[in-house]
Amino acid sequence: MTLAYIGLGSNLSDPAAQIRQAVNHIKSIPNSQLKKISSLYFSRPMGPQDQPDYMNAVLALNTQLSALALLDHLQAIENNAGRVRKENRWGARILDLDIILFGNETINNERLTVPHYGMKAREFVLIPLAEIAQTLLLPDGDRVAELAKNIATNDLKIHSQLD
Ligand code: ATP
Ligand code: CA
Ligand code: CA
Repeated sequence: MTLAYIGLGSNLSDPAAQIRQAVNHIKSIPNSQLKKISSLYFSRPMGPQDQPDYMNAVLALNTQLSALALLDHLQAIENNAGRVRKENRWGARILDLDIILFGNETINNERLTVPHYGMKAREFVLIPLAEIAQTLLLPDGDRVAELAKNIATNDLKIHSQLD
């Protein structure tokens, strides 16, 4: 069993509903159990600013799957939500599901970089992650609570509860 942390994001087609629906789909990933879920947060877009604000959350999933098998399930959930992959990086999207952490593993292959390469610079990942994993250490020894305390909030706000 591995405890994986997954980041969820949406800024199109009723983002709060997209995140709630994605959580339900994640609950039905085989050989896995949802352990914890953060609040649902409002956040400002990263990159292109001419797009709606985002909703974000982070959840903890205990899984017997490999990291790549988990990514396959997450990408299928994104595709079923109607995500269209576009040229413009960080553009608006219906649903984005990223593997933030996979236990204490460091993974670098053509489909996966874990820990997620952007996690330490993203308030919409660190702050929800710290909410559900106060004492968590990253594979490099950094303390999630410390990283979350020191990052600018960039107007991140709790919108509602997810559980
Ligand atoms: P960012 O990666 O900066 O958050 P993004 O989420 O918009 O941007 P996507 O277009 O969703 O990027 O994903 C591009 C590719 O990233 C995916 O096809 C996937 O193979 C790869 N990838 C690498 N590491 C991860 C990870 N930890 N979680 C999810 N996808 C990953
Ligand atoms: Ca992402
Ligand atoms: Ca992604």
